Amino acid sequence: MLKLNIRKLSGAACLLLMPALIFSGCSLSGGNTETKKTFFAMDTVMTLTVYGRKSGTADAKMANSEIAAEKAAARILEIEAALSVTSDTSELSRLNASENETAEASDDVLIPLGAALGIAGETGGALDVTVLPLVRAWGFLSKEYRVPSREELDTLLQNVGYSRLRISGREIVRPPGTELDFGAVAKGYAAQEAAELLRGEGVAGAVISLGGNVQTVGQKPGGEKWRIAVADPLDPDHGTIGTLSVGEAAVVTSGGYQRFFERGTVRYHHILDPKKGMPAENELLSVTVVCDNGTKADGLSTALFVMGFPAAMEHYKLQSDLEYGGFEAVFVTKDRRVIVTDGLKQSFAAANNKYDYE
Ligand code: ADP
Ligand code: MG
Repeated sequence: MLKLNIRKLSGAACLLLMPALIFSGCSLSGGNTETKKTFFAMDTVMTLTVYGRKSGTADAKMANSEIAAEKAAARILEIEAALSVTSDTSELSRLNASENETAEASDDVLIPLGAALGIAGETGGALDVTVLPLVRAWGFLSKEYRVPSREELDTLLQNVGYSRLRISGREIVRPPGTELDFGAVAKGYAAQEAAELLRGEGVAGAVISLGGNVQTVGQKPGGEKWRIAVADPLDPDHGTIGTLSVGEAAVVTSGGYQRFFERGTVRYHHILDPKKGMPAENELLSVTVVCDNGTKADGLSTALFVMGFPAAMEHYKLQSDLEYGGFEAVFVTKDRRVIVTDGLKQSFAAANNKYDYE
């Protein structure tokens, strides 16, 4: 029996991720207020909450929240149009279909690609944007799910490997058969771009919630921290493991619960181990990454999920010793432990007695 997970199509994910905002009051002093815009893009429900000036109100210094939210949504749709692998006309699909080994690319391809290749190098290829043939074979593009044979996966793996790519100026050089999939970084890049746009527009504050990717801008009305709930991977539609209080940050969760299908008693999810061609199976249920950049948070959460717990924690320790590139994380394991990294301990409030918190 094939059981499909259509969680991403419901609004529940958004409600879950921002309960504090959904139920909070909306008006600010001086006629300034919030604009909330919900739309569907990148196969998920997106909600932009922007604090600023409403049309017709006086404070000329502050951005009009409605116009800023419109512009941010348009920018996200523009990025979707460039990076979608389910539309034949996207820049990425045209690049994948081109017989030329060398193709010129736009910034919307080159920037997330550069970030993804950086993370791939640091994580021993746990993040690998060349997984598209595998993603297609498992049916995650068409949603006609299937379990490919070992032989089929081995053949496809011959075309998988990020080190097959070369970037030279604006040109991407790739051997025939190598195809790119930005599923692991596209939402994070879109959130990052939307955040930069909203900052440029001069909004007072904003929360960009793109499926499991949340990014905040500026200040919450009242000046307190933004509160972001982290989903319970064992009960993602209703439960949380706790709440993170953050300033300006990207908060991104990857987990096997986000998109999967079942055959008999086996669950196959959408985050693949690029070496094996199979869904990554280890002690982790989910990984949440907190850092200052959406693209990086998205790429890292996928990579850490593939690496598994001890290796992901080692990677965290290595990175936190560096002057650049630090991040924080919350790991949820199958044996019901929640491990919060040192830099987040003060900002995480536990909320689920099913788990042991460390
Ligand atoms: P979500 O899209 O649910 O937020 P992720 O950010 O973890 O989840 O990205 C998963 C998507 O990335 C998959 O749907 C697939 O398109 C692609 N992908 C799967 N495994 C990998 C991998 N190891 N490296 C890079 N991309 C991957
Ligand atoms: Mg990701």
